[in-house]
Amino acid sequence: MQQITNHLPTAELQALDAAHHMHPFSTQSDLAKVGARVITSASGVRLKDSEGQEILDAMAGLWCVNIGYGREELAQVAARQIRELPYYNTFFQTTHVPAIALSAKLAELAPGDLNHVFYAGSGSEANDTNLRMVRTYWEQMGKPEKSIVISRWNAYHGSSVGSGSLGGMKGIHSQGGLPIPGIEHIDQPHWWAEGGDLSPEEFGLERARQLEAKIDELGEDRVAAFIAEPVQGAGGVIIAPDTYWPEVMRICRERDILFIADEVICGFGRTGNWFGSQTLNLTPDIMTVAKGLSSGYVPIGGSIVSDKVAEVIGATEFNHGYTYSGHPVACAVALENLRILEEEKIVEKVREDTGPYLQEKFATLADHPMVGEAKMIGMMGSIALTPDKSARAPFAADAGTVGYMTRERCFANNLIMRHVYDRMIVSPPLVISKPDIDLLIERAWQSLDEGMKAVKDAGLW
Ligand code: PMP
Repeated sequence: MQQITNHLPTAELQALDAAHHMHPFSTQSDLAKVGARVITSASGVRLKDSEGQEILDAMAGLWCVNIGYGREELAQVAARQIRELPYYNTFFQTTHVPAIALSAKLAELAPGDLNHVFYAGSGSEANDTNLRMVRTYWEQMGKPEKSIVISRWNAYHGSSVGSGSLGGMKGIHSQGGLPIPGIEHIDQPHWWAEGGDLSPEEFGLERARQLEAKIDELGEDRVAAFIAEPVQGAGGVIIAPDTYWPEVMRICRERDILFIADEVICGFGRTGNWFGSQTLNLTPDIMTVAKGLSSGYVPIGGSIVSDKVAEVIGATEFNHGYTYSGHPVACAVALENLRILEEEKIVEKVREDTGPYLQEKFATLADHPMVGEAKMIGMMGSIALTPDKSARAPFAADAGTVGYMTRERCFANNLIMRHVYDRMIVSPPLVISKPDIDLLIERAWQSLDEGMKAVKDAGLW
């Protein structure tokens, strides 16, 4: 077989890719026609493709490359750990220093009494762990009937059978027999799209109280937990109205249920604190983490668990774990990533310096004729595309048509922005500089102009 390297022509790489590589969340046959863009290297906030184009990655990969690309320290740590101990598990009365050190560090960084870590290879796996863990908790407490987990429509918690069921994405539920039983969904606090005539404050309360109503409908003695992202990410960067979270926390406190904060995107600086729960004043019993834990350099996820839950789970054998739970190379790389985030004060910069700078510039996109709102928290934000700002109206075309057309323009302008239906999203590496923030906004504006022209030319507005 021929050697497949960066040196092959792009078309050849694309043909091989189309022939043998099945892409996640893609229509394979459509992708094969256009060919996937071949990314060959990356540094800082920039990707390079096989045609030599430099692309500004305003999505930090999939919301994960918090420290930026190409940090040599992580390569060194990975190589050292592979030489010393490339693999060992922690199942049968064994442990190793990378897992010990990372767990202790996470216990130090996590708020409150979240002092215990159960590792996974990804966010999906960690949420599968959480589903089993909260149910096991209540079984151990002598309340096995407390097994239902409440989540939200348009939440994203992963795409495995368990985590995809926990999430509230209709597209995921429509394939493969999801959701599994025992999971209930309530509406999301998405004021722009669903708030109608209510003020954001009234709407936030109304949506929070759906949790209370759902618990009462099901019976508190049947509900194990509520799971939610502090800020919905993949759902479109939905920042809840200010009234929402205090009310949800009141309900969780008053009702005897556990709260799982899915911090897979919000964790490790994205919202301007180590965890979104700190930014929004949440008190979870379990936090799901992944992505920014290693800045995406190696796959690792986990559940950071409170003393209360860990004590109960620890009193029995928890028949759960993955071959790669606490993988030594992943733990060592994650620890080095946390060292960089901490020593370079990256989280503080997102809170006090580059974060506010990006927020201010990003807010100006709301002046674009096709943009209804531009909202950002820390360094995650989204804009709503609309033909009529004051009515908060959707486009008449199928939801996502205009978003996709605009994303195409971003791609052509060497800016990676994602669309969720007709919302455009940014979540850049947390190390993005002010000149690169200016460039991001400049390219976004240009792409919006071109997107708007394409939408008008297509007769969609
Ligand atoms: N939870 C949230 C909030 C996520 O955003 C994601 C991934 N986008 C996941 C869980 C799933 O993580 P993974 O893709 O690593 O399985």
